[in-house]
Formats: sequence, C-alpha cells, structure tokens
Amino acid sequence: MSEIQASQIEYTDVIVVGGGIAGIAIAEYLARHSRLSIKVLERANHLGTGASGKLEGWFHTGALYSGQDDAQTFINCVNGVEDLVNLYAPYFPERCNVSLKETKPALFRPAVIPQPKGWFNDSPVYLIHPQTDSPESRLSDLKSDSVYLELQRNRVLGRLEVAYGQQHNWLREGNCQAPTYAQVEAHEDLDCSLRDSTETVRNLCQRFDASYDMEPSNYEILRTLDCSMNTSAIMRDLVASALAQGVTFETGVTIDKLLIDRYGPIQIKSLLCQTQQGFPKRLKANLFIFSVGEGFEPFLSELQVRARLKRSRSAMVVAEPALIDTNFVRMSTKNRFHFNHFVQHREVGGENFVYSMLADSGYANDAPRNDVDIEPILESAQRYFGKDKLYSRQLFSYECIKTEFISEEEQKRRYSYWIESDPNSNYLCVLPGKFSFFPTVAFQTYQRIKTLIEFDECAPKSPFESETQVEKEAAKLVANSYPIQILAKAAAT
Ligand SMILES: Cc1cc2nc3c(=O)[nH]c(=O)nc-3n(C[C@H](O)[C@H](O)[C@H](O)COP(=O)(O)OP(=O)(O)OC[C@H]3O[C@@H](n4cnc5c(N)ncnc54)[C@H](O)[C@@H]3O)c2cc1C
Repeated sequence: MSEIQASQIEYTDVIVVGGGIAGIAIAEYLARHSRLSIKVLERANHLGTGASGKLEGWFHTGALYSGQDDAQTFINCVNGVEDLVNLYAPYFPERCNVSLKETKPALFRPAVIPQPKGWFNDSPVYLIHPQTDSPESRLSDLKSDSVYLELQRNRVLGRLEVAYGQQHNWLREGNCQAPTYAQVEAHEDLDCSLRDSTETVRNLCQRFDASYDMEPSNYEILRTLDCSMNTSAIMRDLVASALAQGVTFETGVTIDKLLIDRYGPIQIKSLLCQTQQGFPKRLKANLFIFSVGEGFEPFLSELQVRARLKRSRSAMVVAEPALIDTNFVRMSTKNRFHFNHFVQHREVGGENFVYSMLADSGYANDAPRNDVDIEPILESAQRYFGKDKLYSRQLFSYECIKTEFISEEEQKRRYSYWIESDPNSNYLCVLPGKFSFFPTVAFQTYQRIKTLIEFDECAPKSPFESETQVEKEAAKLVANSYPIQILAKAAAT
C-alpha cells in the first residue's frame, strides 16, 4: 500500500512563476508599491539561469531598431529609457547609473554616469552603418540593395538624432520624458550630431573591407547610448530589494499541476508543486503571474491562451581575454553581415574577467536536428580581428533559446514585450523580448495587476539602501551569468 503523504497548504497574495529578469523585476516593483505578500517560484536551483543569464548584455536604447519601417520597437526602447530614469534611478541611486545630463544649456539627455557598482558600463556602442560602396552592397547584384541601404541610413540617422541628439530635451517638469512616436518620425533632413568615430572602429572597418580585397569603404559611424550592462548585478540588486521588502523566493520547485475552475472565466484555484526536498505543496493565491520564458507551452494550453509561441536558438561566442575594448555593432541590411562585439568586465571571487561576447543575427528553429551555425560568427570575427588574434583567445560557444509570442493579432507581434491577461481571470502571462525592457515590463505589469486585484498602493519608498546580509542572500540566489560560469570553470581546470 502506498504511503499517504501530507501536503502543505500555503497562501500568498501573489505568486510569480519563473525567476528570470521578468519575474524578478515584477515581484520587486510590486513589493515596492504595495504591502501584498509575494512569492517567486523557480524550477532551477538558482534564479537567472534561463535566457536572462545567457545573453550578451547589450542594453538597448533603440539603435538596433532605428532603421525598421515601423518605429514602434524603437519607441518602446526609448520609452524604456524613460522608465529606467524615472522609476529605477531614484530608487537605486548607487546602481542605476543612467540619468539626465545637461549636454548643452537647457538641453538634457540621458547618459551613463560612471559609477563603481553601476549596472551600465560607461563605454558606448558604436553603430557601424554600411553605405553603398560597402562589401555587402558591392557583392550583391541587386540594384535595390543600395536604395534600401540609403533609406535605412536616413531613418537611423534621423530617428537617433531626434531621440538622443540635439533635438529633444528629455527634462520636462522635473521628470524624464522621451520623445513621442510622431516626434521621431519627423526626422527629415536633420544633421546627425551623433556621428563619431574612434581610430579603433575605423581600423576595424578597414580590416573588414580588406578581408574582401576591397579598398576602405565609407561608413556612417554613430556613437549611441546603447552600452553593455551587468545583468547579474541588476538581478542581484532587484532580488536584494525584493527580499528587503519581504518577497520570498523558492528555487528548485517543480510545478505538477494547476487546479483550475473552468466554470466561467478561468480561475486558478491552486498550484500543486514539489519543493526542492520533494515535499508536496498546494499554493493558493489571489493572482498568479507566469513569466516562464521558454517554459510557457504547458501553461498556455492549460490557461487556454491562444497566442502562438515561437522558440528559436541562437549561438554566442565568448572570447577571453577580450579582443578589443570597444563595443560595436554592424547594422547591415543583410543578416549575413550583422555582427556584434560587446566587452564585459566581471569580478568574481576576487578574480577579474574581461571578455568579448560575439554574436550575429543567426538563429535556428527549435527542432532537434536544426543546428545553430556558429561559423558565420567566427568568420566575421576573423575578418574584423584577424585569424591570429582570434585564435589566440580562449573561445567558447553556446546556444541560447529565444522565445517570442506571435499573437493572432498581428499588432502584438512586437519584438518588445507581451503581457496577457483576462480581466475576469486571476492570472497574467508576461514575456519580455529583451532584458533591457525590464523597467517597462515591471511598470506595465504593475498597471495590469491593478486592474485584476484590489490593493492599497504605497507612497514611493525612500531609496534602497543595500545591507550586507540581504546582499549575501541575493548573491546566493542569483546565478552568475553563463559566460562567467564557463570561464570560471575553465580557470579552475
Ligand atoms: C541569444 C540571445 C541573446 C540575447 N541578448 C540580449 C541582450 O544582449 N540584451 C537584451 O536586452 N536582451 C537579450 N536577449 C533577450 C533576453 O534574454 C530575454 O528577453 C529575457 O532574458 C527574457 O527574460 P524572462 O525572465 O522572460 O525569461 P528567462 O530568463 O528565461 O526566465 C524564465 C524563468 O522561468 C523559469 N521557468 C520555466 N518554466 C518554469 C516552471 N514550470 N516552473 C518554474 N519556473 C519555470 C526558468 O527556469 C527561467 O529561470 C537575448 C536573447 C537571446 C536568446
């Protein structure tokens, strides 16, 4: 006869399932603005081991999307900067080091302010925009290529100038206010003050052209507000703040079943799960938030959410020590020519790591036999840095899963973020298309939560003061980023 096992029953006002950047940021922001009891459940033994721990660490302020036909994703990035400056910089003054800076009399723009423990690195991303004499254009027989390149170039220069150049004053009535969609679209014939080039970037471009046996071509090189960010530090600080406000985090949890009342609009009654130690638990809550990244599939079918899910895999190459100390992105009209180089600096256990993250826009469908091809990344790296330099480094590659929602409504197919709820149900699904959108995702989810449950909002709290015990606890909960895990392992063997 099988042994009867007791199951613990727990109630929390809000349960967040998934401890990546989305779950962490939502729990933290909600805790900061309410007195609700909040619990975050994560199936892995640590937080931040999914996509949030494997990315390049590129903080997007819009440059990558500035050339698209539709400016919406660009605007979402620009709004993300506004949310970061208004909602995070005042609360995390020693960490969230993007704030408004007076660059000309009465002209304030967001800027990275150097700070020892800052989330954002004070070195810009250079955007390399090829022109009509570039290798990708010259190697193509299509006349339309150069027309398209020129079109894209004008959009990139114009929109970036309106947003981050000398056109828009971000300081309005004491607050940070981003330009509107209409403003960034009114970019005709602007002179772009963001044009900037360093010798390093010019040399990279020349070596790239020479690798095709071509004379140096012309490039638009822009200094953007994009930069690299320390994603582990962001997650650790948000977790520390959440812990200090009473949020509980439970890792190593397996969810066995959602108990759902299907009589009328879906209501989740309980969540049946097993703790890390294998004890059964029944968790009840007023609201359930799912922020499970690549783990959405089973929940979507249970909750009868109709949005389709697309998963794809991308490759990333880590080179240590870093190949150069400059972040750059080649933004081509041809995917094959896309290439990013990001420098990351990390201190782990007293050891300093400075490494390059290399990526392109290649991906494979998430089918077992579809391999992600890392060769194009290595080929581009060889063209920019030379074979000897590239292969003198320790090189590692890994794959990372990207999860995107494709809604029935085409409008929602924005590569930014997705928040789904039914006003009569007690659940929410959230998926950010970018880590960089965490301020907007946390804020917008909070707005949605207010429509689903009733609670008293708290007045803004005084700035977060880090405390050693909480910091230690947060450091234990959040995993080091995956590249650091690889490099630390290699260093130890
Ligand atoms: C190759 C690549 C590069 C990228 N580079 C960048 C970049 O440079 N900059 C940028 O801004 N964005 C980047 N992104 C996007 C970014 O990584 C994601 O948008 C973001 O990390 C998603 O966060 P998330 O919390 O939704 O997902 P995740 O970080 O994956 O978190 C989901 C969590 O849910 C947990 N989970 C899943 N199922 C369950 C379950 N049943 N029970 C409990 N827990 C569960 C998982 O273990 C995981 O911890 C990149 C993405 C990819 C794929």
